Amino acid sequence: MDASATVTTRYTDLNPPPRILLGPGPSMVHPRVLRAMAAPPIGHLDPQFIEIMNEIQALLRMVFQSEEALTIPVSGTGSAGMEAALANFIEEGDPVLICVNGYFGERLTDMARRYGADVSRVEVAWGEVFTAQQVEEALQARPAKIVAIVHAETSTGALQPLDEIAEVAHRHGALLLVDAVTSLGGVPVRFDEVGIDIAYSGTQKCLSAPPGLAPIALSPRAVEVLKSRKSTVKNWYLDLTMVFKYWGAERTYHHTAPINMNYALREALRLVLEEGLEARFERHRRNAEMLWDGLAALDLMPVVPLEHRLPSLTTVYIPEGLDEAALRRRLLNEYNIEVAGGLGAFAGRVWRIGLMGYSSRPENVVTLLGALERILG
Ligand SMILES: *Cc1c(COP(=O)(O)O)cnc(C)c1O
Repeated sequence: MDASATVTTRYTDLNPPPRILLGPGPSMVHPRVLRAMAAPPIGHLDPQFIEIMNEIQALLRMVFQSEEALTIPVSGTGSAGMEAALANFIEEGDPVLICVNGYFGERLTDMARRYGADVSRVEVAWGEVFTAQQVEEALQARPAKIVAIVHAETSTGALQPLDEIAEVAHRHGALLLVDAVTSLGGVPVRFDEVGIDIAYSGTQKCLSAPPGLAPIALSPRAVEVLKSRKSTVKNWYLDLTMVFKYWGAERTYHHTAPINMNYALREALRLVLEEGLEARFERHRRNAEMLWDGLAALDLMPVVPLEHRLPSLTTVYIPEGLDEAALRRRLLNEYNIEVAGGLGAFAGRVWRIGLMGYSSRPENVVTLLGALERILG
């Protein structure tokens, strides 16, 4: 029987509403990125595609601010980057120290345990950041092969300083693994200068491309550790020892690269290069300051003190007695603006407002503040 003959539902043309995406991701996609994605796919071993791959790797080093990192876009969203970072560097029983001050530190813990790590945790309250001293004490109490930390905690809006923690990790012989999902392309990651060993990100936050790829960067030291693994990587799809054979000189098939997502990433990175990294960081900062000033004028208090506040994502307390979910629904339905509620400890108490990549524009800030003024009346 022809199953299509029995369908009575009318499926209309796809027509997503023109949302202004000011949540924790995805962010708005630059029109040039959308145009690049519409190009016809070519073969994943086509010499022209290999040229595109080489360009993407060079552009990724630029945005990670690294001369020597091995970079590739892992297939999958930011969480695939997280999974690749952990799966490739954890062997059964390896001691791993995870810094937990929000939702994504919890996710790192969950994943690391699934790959057989012997996890220890150092914790501070949501919204706070770690001092090098706290990491040092944790490593003195128990050495670790990897110290994992979130650079930009999207659940809290805190920006973690990394320099001293990198120094402490290395002094104790550990690799520094950094979640740069909400920082890459929006705030400096400084891979080489900090001394990061493993960092991953996602295309849909400050890079202004759709979700679908997870750029990862490995230091030469990390590459050595990966090469000297005793056991096979527990995740076939994300096994970088195999994926690197496709992205390296050998060009052997592992899995089909998501061709059009790579077109998107290349264009997104070309936009970063055209704007200039410093100018881009400055834009994220300037628009965030405009938002912070406007929120203050509405008596809305940010969660994170200015010193550690993340330009790409702001958490703000919702005054008690307000139905925050109903207000967010109004923002969406009446003004086409998406912001997000809180996760975990912050659920129902805060909003998360993202100004990432192409979303980070003054007209979006003004529109949001104007809408808030009306609905908060
Ligand atoms: C969004 C995010 C992730 C996960 O990325 P997905 O694209 O949702 O898989 C991981 N870490 C941080 C800090 C994030 O903000």
